[in-house]
Amino acid sequence: MSLKERIGKKVRENQDEIVSFCQKLIQFDSHVEPPSGFEGEVQEFMNDYLETMGLQVDMWEPREDEFFKYKGYVSGGKRDYRGRPNVVGTLPGKGGGRSLILNGHVDTVPIGPRSLWQHDPLGGEIRDGRIYGRGASDMKSGIAAMVMALKSLLDLKITLKGDLILESVVDEESTGNGTLACLGSGYLADAALVPEPSDGKIFRGHPGVMGLKITTTGKGGHASARWHLTNPVDKLLKIQVLLQKLEKEWLISKTQYPFEPPSIAQTMIHAGTNFNVVPETATLTCDIKYLPQHADENGFGGVLQREVEERISVLAQSDVWMKDHPPKLEWLADGNPSLVEKDHPIVQTIRKCVGALQEKTRIGVATGCSDVRYFVVNGIPGVWYGPGHYSQAHVTDEYATIESIVDATESIALFITDWCGS
Ligand SMILES: [Zn+2]
Repeated sequence: MSLKERIGKKVRENQDEIVSFCQKLIQFDSHVEPPSGFEGEVQEFMNDYLETMGLQVDMWEPREDEFFKYKGYVSGGKRDYRGRPNVVGTLPGKGGGRSLILNGHVDTVPIGPRSLWQHDPLGGEIRDGRIYGRGASDMKSGIAAMVMALKSLLDLKITLKGDLILESVVDEESTGNGTLACLGSGYLADAALVPEPSDGKIFRGHPGVMGLKITTTGKGGHASARWHLTNPVDKLLKIQVLLQKLEKEWLISKTQYPFEPPSIAQTMIHAGTNFNVVPETATLTCDIKYLPQHADENGFGGVLQREVEERISVLAQSDVWMKDHPPKLEWLADGNPSLVEKDHPIVQTIRKCVGALQEKTRIGVATGCSDVRYFVVNGIPGVWYGPGHYSQAHVTDEYATIESIVDATESIALFITDWCGS
């Protein structure tokens, strides 16, 4: 029997174990609630499990000094990591192979209103070939697939040439600091795989995202004095129209295959206290998605930030009020985009391993972001491929199909042996 056949057979034999491991992970409530989170218990479980598998396990609470050693920190305000450790298991190779990081996050978004769930969000219930619960797709099935892929190889007594580093990180949903702390504490490799849900596709890139808050000021007062006041809502409206125009320009000038066009989504508006009061200020918040091709020399959105600032400044200069009372711009976040060339060995290797199970292997890019960006911006090529379904992330009655979990476990097991060598 070939190595590939032995791995396939072993993963199928381990199917019940894979499924119950995923159920167990879902049964821990590990949601984040900034500035804190509840990943402590599931990480204790992960620590014990990886130790039983024979890995060298490191468990520590992420520290601020670790976030700044490598590029990518996104300021989201202060976070509290007490009782929320990262867990990293290392399997040193016998030498002569390439090293690999497998990285997944154990935190989830909150459950939301329980009454809306048909299935127990912490039950890990199985119905019609699906596992239900918060984190089923995003991304406890991914953690299950990467851990069980390695376990299947260890069951077969396969020894790897390159080092394997398995990272179970905290706080992806609110920052990404868990992964940055792994880099900051010295966990580096020749490549990284992040098994976030990908619907069986291989994502070799994703856009960057910036948050922007714009505040306009005016001269407020009783609405009956309308013609004697300056309404900041009117000023904000001018900026909104400008941003819509800029987005259309980008649609034509900055769209690049295979990405979706860059976008300026106006997501939050706030002004006023009562219907008959002209407010003093008005604010607009935007989510700006940009492509790797438009990143600055550091890999971030600096060039586009300046473009947005300039356009708003020109508009302000042409307005009698805003000329002297310029709108205030605050950049809330900048998560860098990520892209690895299609013919890069990591893309080709994962393609071959996924292709061993699927008739058609699709390589593309994601529309959202993941922790894979931290690896890529710091020179470690990384791809996103995992079980579950991207559209299931963060939804009520979240699920992942068992078929996708077992298939991904097998593909990842093949990928580990192919990349690291055995
Ligand atoms: Zn995720």
